[in-house]
Amino acid sequence: MKSRGLAVESATSPLKTFEFDRRPLGTHDVGLDVKYAGICHSDIHTARGEWGSVHYPLVPGHEIAGVVTAIGSAVTKFNIGDLIGVGVFVDSCRTCSNCLFGLEQYCLEGMTGTYNSVERDGLNQTRGGYSDTFVINEDYAVHIPSSLPLEGVAPLLCAGITLYSPIKHFNVGPSSKVAVMGLGGLGHMGVKFAIAMGAEVTVLSHSPAKEDDAKNMGAHHFVSTQDPKALSALKKSFDIILNTVSAEIDINEYLQCLKLDGTLVVIGLPGKPYSLNPAVMLDGRRSLSGSMIGGMSELQEMLNFCGEKNIVSDVEVISADYANTAYDRTVASDVKYRFVIDATTF
Ligand code: NAP
Ligand code: ZN
Ligand code: ZN
Repeated sequence: MKSRGLAVESATSPLKTFEFDRRPLGTHDVGLDVKYAGICHSDIHTARGEWGSVHYPLVPGHEIAGVVTAIGSAVTKFNIGDLIGVGVFVDSCRTCSNCLFGLEQYCLEGMTGTYNSVERDGLNQTRGGYSDTFVINEDYAVHIPSSLPLEGVAPLLCAGITLYSPIKHFNVGPSSKVAVMGLGGLGHMGVKFAIAMGAEVTVLSHSPAKEDDAKNMGAHHFVSTQDPKALSALKKSFDIILNTVSAEIDINEYLQCLKLDGTLVVIGLPGKPYSLNPAVMLDGRRSLSGSMIGGMSELQEMLNFCGEKNIVSDVEVISADYANTAYDRTVASDVKYRFVIDATTF
């Protein structure tokens, strides 16, 4: 299948128009017209080589919302015309204990990423969603509730599930005091989901100008971390801290804000190790955890939840020729709150 999109050719080159072939439709494959492709900070880390080895040219994009245009002969899950979503991975081994448990993101053989991976038959490089068409095995795609605006749904395929999964796993509910570190693409979804679960939510942000937005999203409290005393005033305050920050920070300052038995969940991945002070873990039996996206069944569950609760991402819809500027603005924490590319402009 012919595809036209955007690719980078090296860690230092900009996104440029790129034409390529996707694999022909297999019996269990679904072909789609991409309608909207979200820009995740992981796309930027990968494209710029911040996470290690990259197979260039790289077509990023793992927040894909589209419409089914073709189905393989054995497809049962989708019909032509259905709304369809594709997230961060396009395949996994399907047989390991984690895959069988619906935790394909933790596949013991490694999931097959939507981009910068090789398909499991070893033949093709995977190419992401910054493009006009896509081919996906039906088992690794989800249905999108038709009641939601599609541009606001695209970021749910990564940013949404990445916050929904730990919020569910750590049982965030009406009695939880939750802090969200960083009000970006992931963080703003964390606020929306934690609020939907009934929690008391505090945003910890280094951008004081985001306070009104945070409150409009439902956050109860907003704390500017630009104030050097801000975090020490919050010692022993939270049950759960969701760290979505994309840059290097002093994790110990945040860990001390956990209550007894509290957990700080690492979600942001700047690509550099933390320096951890063990003493801060001991005081209050604190835990440091991590979480990576979510499995296929949880991805569908999250989208259904969003359909019921009318939850979508706040987006700035852009055309493909704005993508390089969007990358720079994302790195500068200057996006409200996710850039989404209109796929008709590729
Ligand atoms: P984003 O939209 O750029 O948001 C990151 C936020 O971090 C910014 O909006 C900003 O929030 C805060 N921040 C940025 N630079 C900072 C600095 N120097 N000091 C303090 N705070 C800073 O990025 P995203 O798409 O949400 O992704 C966030 C991170 O999660 C990235 O590292 C990404 O790769 C990773 N990620 C992980 C998973 C997973 O499965 N675990 C999935 C997707 C993405 P404020 O302006 O409010 O301070
Ligand atoms: Zn992502
Ligand atoms: Zn597996």
